[in-house]
Parts: sequence; structure tokens; C-alpha cells
Amino acid sequence: MSIIICKFCKSENDAENERCFSCNAPLPKTSVLSEKAKEHLSNYINSIEKRLKAEMKKADMPLFISFMLITLIWIFVSFISYKSFPEDTTIIVILAVVLGLGLFIAWGGLIKHFEHKAAEKAFDPKIKTEINAYLKEMNISGPSFKMLASEILSAKSSLLKFLDDLQ
Ligand SMILES: [Zn+2]
Repeated sequence: MSIIICKFCKSENDAENERCFSCNAPLPKTSVLSEKAKEHLSNYINSIEKRLKAEMKKADMPLFISFMLITLIWIFVSFISYKSFPEDTTIIVILAVVLGLGLFIAWGGLIKHFEHKAAEKAFDPKIKTEINAYLKEMNISGPSFKMLASEILSAKSSLLKFLDDLQ
């Protein structure tokens, strides 16, 4: 059991207390987790993040197929423009470059979309249910979990995007 010192009266309190037993001042919420619980929770959060990353790999196949389709569209439209303006190579080149750029940007959006969908599919309801059961068993609140997760994961983490609807 971990101890927290009240910053007002310097009494030693059980870290699970919400208020100081001596002066009744509120104790900081972050102290709810002991160091050992924090370490256990950190390992758990990292393992969930790894699982979501692995799930995102499932998007590789649809991404590969859409890449092929995009390339075919680009070749097809470039070919049509070549047929339409056989004399004017400038128009053909400009069309091909502009279309290529547009498709490249769309491709970036597709990667994000497919990877997010794959992670979302794994998270809800399976991983979400597991996390809720884990938090209940460990007696940790959703907000404490989110706070620690945002401390140890990078802002680009896939898990952080899904934590808003935890209990
Ligand atoms: Zn106190």
C-alpha cells in the first residue's frame, strides 16, 4: 500500500484516500495508483497498443489493391489525354502531373482511413470490453487509465484515439 503526504498538514495518508484523514484537505488524484500498479498498467497499455498496431497490418491487402487501382486510373486517364491531344504534349504532361498529385494525396487519406478502420474493428467491442474488465479487476477508474495512457503513449498512438468511450 502506498503512502501520500498531505501538502497542508504533512500527515501520512493511505494513497487510496480521497481526503486527508487529519485535516480533510483533498488529496491529489494521481496518487490513487501505487508505483507497482502504475508499472503493471504501463505494461498493459503498451501491450494493447502493440495489438492495435498488429491489427492495422490487416489493412495492407486492401491498401495494396487500392494502390493498383489508383495506378491503373492514372495510366488510363493519361492514355486518354494522350489520344485526345496528340499534338499538345504540354497539356498531357500537366494533366498527368496534376492527376498524379491528386491521386497521391487521396492515397495518403486512404492509408489513414483503412488503418483506422482496422484498429477500430479490433478495439470495439473486443479490446474495449477487455480493458473495462481489466480496470474493474484492478479497481482503476477510466480517467486514471486515460491519464496514464496519454503520459506513456505518443500523441500519434492508435489507442489514445479510442479511449474516450471507456467507462
Ligand atoms: Zn492534511
